[in-house]
Amino acid sequence: MSDQLIAGLYRVGDPIADSSAPAVPIDRRWRERQFQARLVNPANRRKMSAIIVGTGLAGASAAATLGEAGYQVKSFCYQDSPRRAHSIAAQGGINAAKNYRNDGDSTFRLFYDTVKGGDFRARESNVYRLAEVSASIIDQCVAQGVPFAREYGGLLDNRSFGGVQVSRTFYARGQTGQQLLIGAYQAQERQIAAGTVKMYARHEMLELVVVDGKARGIIARDMITGEIETHLADVVVLATGGYGNVFYLSTNAMGSNTTAIWRAHRKGALFGNPCYTQIHPTCIPVSGDYQSKLTLMSESLRNDGRIWVPKRAEDCDKDPRDIPEEDRDYYLERIYPAFGNLVPRDIASRQAKNMCDEGRGVGPEVDGVRRGVYLDFADAMARMGRAAVEAKYGNLFDMYQQITGENPYEVPMRIYPAVHYTMGGLWVDYDLQSTIPGLFVTGEANFSDHGANRLGASALMQGLADGYFVLPNTINDYLADAPFDPVPEDHPAVLEARAAVEDRISRLMNASGKRSVDSFHKELGQIMWEYCGMERTEEGLRTAIDKIRALREEYWRDVKVLGSADNLNQSLEKAHRVADFLELGELMCIDALHRRESCGGHFRAESQTEDGEALRHDDEFAYVAAWEWGGTDGAPVLHKEDLVYEYVEMKQRSYK
Ligand SMILES: Cc1cc2nc3c(=O)[nH]c(=O)nc-3n(C[C@H](O)[C@H](O)[C@H](O)COP(=O)(O)OP(=O)(O)OC[C@H]3O[C@@H](n4cnc5c(N)ncnc54)[C@H](O)[C@@H]3O)c2cc1C
Repeated sequence: MSDQLIAGLYRVGDPIADSSAPAVPIDRRWRERQFQARLVNPANRRKMSAIIVGTGLAGASAAATLGEAGYQVKSFCYQDSPRRAHSIAAQGGINAAKNYRNDGDSTFRLFYDTVKGGDFRARESNVYRLAEVSASIIDQCVAQGVPFAREYGGLLDNRSFGGVQVSRTFYARGQTGQQLLIGAYQAQERQIAAGTVKMYARHEMLELVVVDGKARGIIARDMITGEIETHLADVVVLATGGYGNVFYLSTNAMGSNTTAIWRAHRKGALFGNPCYTQIHPTCIPVSGDYQSKLTLMSESLRNDGRIWVPKRAEDCDKDPRDIPEEDRDYYLERIYPAFGNLVPRDIASRQAKNMCDEGRGVGPEVDGVRRGVYLDFADAMARMGRAAVEAKYGNLFDMYQQITGENPYEVPMRIYPAVHYTMGGLWVDYDLQSTIPGLFVTGEANFSDHGANRLGASALMQGLADGYFVLPNTINDYLADAPFDPVPEDHPAVLEARAAVEDRISRLMNASGKRSVDSFHKELGQIMWEYCGMERTEEGLRTAIDKIRALREEYWRDVKVLGSADNLNQSLEKAHRVADFLELGELMCIDALHRRESCGGHFRAESQTEDGEALRHDDEFAYVAAWEWGGTDGAPVLHKEDLVYEYVEMKQRSYK
């Protein structure tokens, strides 16, 4: 590692590489890895244990599959039921290269679209495998009884999502995540009944136990009794979702947080591309400063809805129905004629911001600016009829009406970008193993497949690919080295992890400050949104880092945690999460500052084309930034994984 402190903020360490993908042509790579991976015979599996934290699509599918394989699984979630994981909120759909529409789709095209959509910042091997297993996911879910939408003849229906020109998105009305999660949950419940999976709901992991360099367990808090528990196993899987709530306002569930992966990061797991955040273009606009949650209007709406703003700023406060066609600017169709309203999310979001910055936003003013654009179904209603629109999108329209009080069948919806998904996460190799042996990471919690921008309907695909198909074929290679030495509960590493949790709880409970946890979270979110949101600059990011450091210092001095530690205490739960967000936020800004290029959702104002599009610098930045924890007051260390493109030519993205 170089001792040089770069930009006064970080150091550069040794490069890192994925060494577990076999060096064979990409279409044989996964089969080869499955064949090479050592197996564990069924009798031995019964003696081996796995902790899986998270019961969303990534965690529930893994628990069900590893349970079915015969391992002893302990499954954790902080909700009162595994099926309340945030995955349940997913609306629009799940991709698969089935080519049911015969419109030119293939494994290679899904791979190509995903690499291009991620702005050439994802690892080819992982993305190809994702495309390869995508078709099996649909078969698995259909076999479970997931009620995908069907066409009149009974075949599964498809629709399109952004960044692609084929229809490969399978869906269950506007509740795809819910239906998929019920499938995975039932598969997991079956294993719970069979005794292979033991469920720990209302348990929050607060620390990782690392013994002799290997992940061997977790420290969790029973959220009802407050008891601190030690759970040990041969292997630990984190499937704990994304960290978009670092921005306070996001479309994520209120409980989504970074604690599990951040604690693992502090114990040695590298964090990949923390600054890559997805801002989703179709959310209900912020309506005031009292809000704690934003609502997504599924991207599927862009299949039939048309996005526009008035051509003239003076028309912005008019009733949209009174603005004639010739005075409307369908700006996505104008700027990107090839993809139109179905450009990828990063591009649609930035253009919405541009329109509002130009003074052509619609809806009420918030802080002096109208931050909204129209999503209009008038054409679709005329073409398909109201009943067809209702059948496809009815529950989304109802949700919109309940939240805004406006009827979207009569007036266009108003939408604006909001934080939605985090492409960054713990760095994993092809086996989904982190840099801590025995710690595997799946779903949104890892950095793996989406580069700098995720295409719509590909997170559900990834979570289920990881849990049903990838992890169950790679974790065995690690477990084949078992039996591992048993870890006693009084092992110094276990005691140290427990003490760290107890000490933190005591510090939080005893901080005799005056400010609520939420007020700190909100302030952090404002800093992140302003300086590390849709547009980032060197100056802004430096400001953000200073502000976050000061806020973190104030947090430990002036936070007020209500209640007590030995029973249900939401104030304490949030206090843990916000403490971790305050550290993660700084790393996100350092990562964003060091990447002096624009790519995907990471838009550096200093690096744009003449047309205002993201300008990559492949000569300098074609790598994954994998960050090592530098200690509370130390500088993080950057390890670069070079990205090599053998199958897709790197070029400037164009959706025109
Ligand atoms: C509103 C919305 C709509 C979306 N729609 C789509 C869509 O249509 N298609 C698509 O592909 N993607 C969609 N996404 C993205 C997708 O839903 C998520 O990326 C995906 O569901 C994440 O799944 P996961 O299993 O990785 O994590 P999650 O579903 O977030 O599950 C996380 C699990 O980890 C547990 N957990 C977390 N931390 C701890 C801890 N410390 N201790 C114990 N347990 C813990 C939680 O209890 C939970 O069980 C959408 C996202 C949002 C916000």
